[in-house]
Amino acid sequence: MVEICILEYVVDSILTYSKSMHPREAILLLKGKMDILDMHILGTVHSHPSGALVPSLTDLNMLYGGLMIICSYPYSGMDCMKAYDAKGREIPLRICKSV
Ligand SMILES: [Zn+2]
Repeated sequence: MVEICILEYVVDSILTYSKSMHPREAILLLKGKMDILDMHILGTVHSHPSGALVPSLTDLNMLYGGLMIICSYPYSGMDCMKAYDAKGREIPLRICKSV
C-alpha cells in the first residue's frame, strides 16, 4: 500500500502557514523522495479556508506533480489534512520521525 510519510515539523509548518494566510488560500510546493530516489518536487500543498477536505475539479486539473495535500480550516492538526493522487484518490498520510 502506498502512503505518505511526512515529518512533524513539516506538518506544523503547513498548519502555521495556512493559518497565517487565512482566509486566503495558501499554496506550497512539496519536496520529498520516493523510495531511494533523490529529493525533488512531488506535488503541492494548499489550504481550503472553507474547511472542505476534498479536492475540487480545478485542483485535479491544475495538479503539479503526482501528489496533492489539502489542509483545511481550522488547521488544528492531522485531522485537517488529507493527501490525494492525481485521480483524486485519497492516500494515507502519517507523521514519521525521519525520512
Ligand atoms: Zn483546492
